[in-house]
Amino acid sequence: MDSRSADPLVLGQRVVAILETGLRVATYKLATLMALLEHCVENLPEHHADELVVPIPELAHRVLDIYWPQIRPFDGRELRQSNDGRSRILAAANDLRKAAGLTCRSVDVAQLRAPAAYLRAIAEVGLCLAQQPLHRLQKLPGAAASDAFLYDDSFLHDKISRKTLHKHGNAITLKAGVGDGLARLAGLLRPTLEIMWVEDVRRMNRFLDENVPDVAGHLFGRERSAMAAVREPFKEVFGPHCFYCNAHLPQDNPIDHVLPWSLVGIDGLANLVLACARCNGDKTNALPAVRLIDQALDEARTGLLTEIADYLQWPVQRGRVIAAARGIYLGQPQGIPTWDGYRATQRLDVSFPPPWLRARAT
Ligand SMILES: [Zn+2]
Repeated sequence: MDSRSADPLVLGQRVVAILETGLRVATYKLATLMALLEHCVENLPEHHADELVVPIPELAHRVLDIYWPQIRPFDGRELRQSNDGRSRILAAANDLRKAAGLTCRSVDVAQLRAPAAYLRAIAEVGLCLAQQPLHRLQKLPGAAASDAFLYDDSFLHDKISRKTLHKHGNAITLKAGVGDGLARLAGLLRPTLEIMWVEDVRRMNRFLDENVPDVAGHLFGRERSAMAAVREPFKEVFGPHCFYCNAHLPQDNPIDHVLPWSLVGIDGLANLVLACARCNGDKTNALPAVRLIDQALDEARTGLLTEIADYLQWPVQRGRVIAAARGIYLGQPQGIPTWDGYRATQRLDVSFPPPWLRARAT
């Protein structure tokens, strides 16, 4: 094993270096890396030095999910995500969106509504990823060979067929320590990737000058209007109270992502709560105290969420919240401050963890 890969700091520097070298002609490498980070957070290896298999269909699902809000028209126009404006990935996302209904809020919902179209989109995006960004991610401009510090990419090439891809398990394998390292780095790298992405999209879409403000909000913000659909059912079932401070809520209170949206883009019901504007504003992107996740995962709450999920056609994703929370908390140093309600902090301490936050073997 390459010992340099085991140090998360060195790993992070090398990831940033491959992104900052040369002008990107498309945002697909950023999307691929963002999807890889998410995968590592939600599939934290049992041991620090383990390899981690990343099935390409799972990666394709995440990439689709990242582009999903971005294919909405912005200022009435479709955003380009590459210099030449042509994109098989965006075309696949658009086809799926048409099949699932234009109001379809997420890829998970599209999967429920249009399973055949979903499988087609995943196959197409997976093949695109294997032929382009996964094959080129670790190759610096001008270099003949890849510097394969993340995963072996020797079987990937521009024309790889589905058949060859399947022969290789339709997956890439992150090298020893890389999965753990990327999970730890996710919170640091994700904002960097978002900044690069916004710059790229501004460059690729000339109409986005300085007068067009919230490009980042369009690309990565939560869709407030879409979130509004859960507000009334939540109030009916849980009562009109803030999940954090129990304050009585006005009509238009925020819906809060318990695990911050900026860290992991989970908008399954298990990750959503009613909040007052005061708590929501105070919490912003902070990592919540473990007890708050424990409360959000409460079994009685989950039972009620399942009923809301059926009614709204909106996934609960409790397992995903657990997996992401494990990846996040176990990757953080003990003692860091976490948000524990309005203007309150709690130092992270997983020595007596709730059952879902089982410690890893060392
Ligand atoms: Zn509150």
